[in-house]
Parts: sequence; C-alpha cells; structure tokens
Amino acid sequence: MQKEEKKREDIKVYEIDSIDTDMYDRQKRIFGWDQKKISDATVMVIGVGATGNEVVKNLILTGVGKLILIDYDFINISNLNRCVLFNSQSAQNKDYKVDVVKNACEELNPNTEVLGIKKDLKDIDKTLYEKSDVICSCLDNVEARVEANNYAYYYGVPFVDSGIEEFFGSVQSVYSGEEEAACLQCNISNADLDLMWQKFSCTGEEIESESGETIAKIATIITTTSIIGGLQSQQVLKFLLGLDYFKENGKWNPHIGKPLIGKQLNYNGLLNKFNILKKFQNPDCWTCSYKKN
Ligand SMILES: [Zn+2]
Repeated sequence: MQKEEKKREDIKVYEIDSIDTDMYDRQKRIFGWDQKKISDATVMVIGVGATGNEVVKNLILTGVGKLILIDYDFINISNLNRCVLFNSQSAQNKDYKVDVVKNACEELNPNTEVLGIKKDLKDIDKTLYEKSDVICSCLDNVEARVEANNYAYYYGVPFVDSGIEEFFGSVQSVYSGEEEAACLQCNISNADLDLMWQKFSCTGEEIESESGETIAKIATIITTTSIIGGLQSQQVLKFLLGLDYFKENGKWNPHIGKPLIGKQLNYNGLLNKFNILKKFQNPDCWTCSYKKN
C-alpha cells in the first residue's frame, strides 16, 4: 500500500528534550507508532541461535516489554560467525544460549523482562503460548515449528516463522483471526515431514543417516540470518502495533501495514530478489480446518 501523505496537523511535535533523552524517540516519530503497545507486549522467541539472536536484538532494542526465550542448547565455537549476542568465552564455557542471550538483553535494555527457558519446546508449560502476544520460531526443526504453529493457531496468537539456508531465506506469518489464510502445516506434506524430520537440526547433535553417512549441517551466513531476522522482527512489530486495529476494524492499519498472513516472503541472495508466494489453505489440515466443522 502506498504511504499516505502526512497531513500537517497529523505530524506529532515532540518535546525538544526528548530528542536525546528518550531511547525510543526516533521510532516514536514513525506515523502510526504506539510505543505503549510495544512496551506492554510479551513475545515468545523459540530458538535463540543465529536468526534468534537477530530477532531478540531487534525486539529488545525496540522496547518489547517481555521476552520468553526457549532453547535447550549450549553455545559452540562454530556458532560465533553469526550470533551477535554470543562471545568466545561463552562458547569455551559451553554456556546455555538462553543464559547468554538473557545477560546480553539486560545490558542492551534493562527495561525488558526476559524469561529464559532451557527446555525442549514439547516440554514447556503450554500456558506460555496464551500469555504471548506474538510467537516467533527461529528453528530449522520442522517438528518444533509445526508444534508452535499448532499451539499458536489454537490460542489465536499470531505466529511468525522463518527459515534460512546459504543465501536463501523465508518468512511466513500465521494468524487464525484470518480464517481463509493458510497455516504453516497446510503446505507440509507427509513426505516432506518425513524428510525434514530426518534432516539434521543445526542446534542438535550430529546424526547419521541409515547408510551411516553423517547428514550435513545447514550452511548459512550472518548476512542471510540478519536479513531474515530483520524481516521476521518486522512482522512481529506489525502484529504488536496493528492487531488491535484489525480486531476493531476488520482491516489492517494502513500506517503499519498488513503482516504476511498466509503468505511466504522468499529471499534469494544470489539473484538479489524477494518474492511473495500465497500459501493455499489445505482443507484437510488438522490445525486450521477445525473451525469449519
Ligand atoms: Zn493449516
């Protein structure tokens, strides 16, 4: 949507002393911005590795009130090329990712409350989904992504998923308030599920295929994770700033823009291109078809 011309009377004039003293001064100048919605919000970030580092960094500096971080893994030296919140000492100590990210958050912005949970996603308290305003998955493990998709859909909480590999990445949003829009599970076939479950997760142990070969780790680079993490964070902010407006008006605030609900934004770093694919709802999807019965 084309940006609307700002009317003179719509432009907020801020007190001159906020220019240098308010951490959020510059973003508050964005038309349609509501810092209170951001500071009142709780966002769950599942997976705080490469993309998760970027998402957490963006959300904490934006001033999100509370972050719930979920990751059971510890830091390795090989994480350090793409994780801005980790450091070599934490890798040598094999510290838990959530502990190190939580400490980094406290330094970056002490206004945000951070809850770190060192558990597998399937073992967390399920009421945490309901307590979140947006749920964000930064995982390459399809089983956990589908689980997060399903709980988020069930509780009516917006869900933002991402994936990366080499110079490619994608971001997709799911929200059950838009009933015709596809969820993440709609486009995952049983064959894909089988294949992806076998695929090595870069946050887990190395596994061997049936033939005894070690399955390769996913190749990636921080330029891809920062681009995708940035886009994913932007989707989170759109929901935080725009969801109340959507619930009241049945449409998305034009100043904030519509999130990528039921659509997948794909990034191709080789061709320097982005494209958006509409994802079609699968009438047999057991996650999002339940409302039709
Ligand atoms: Zn579905």
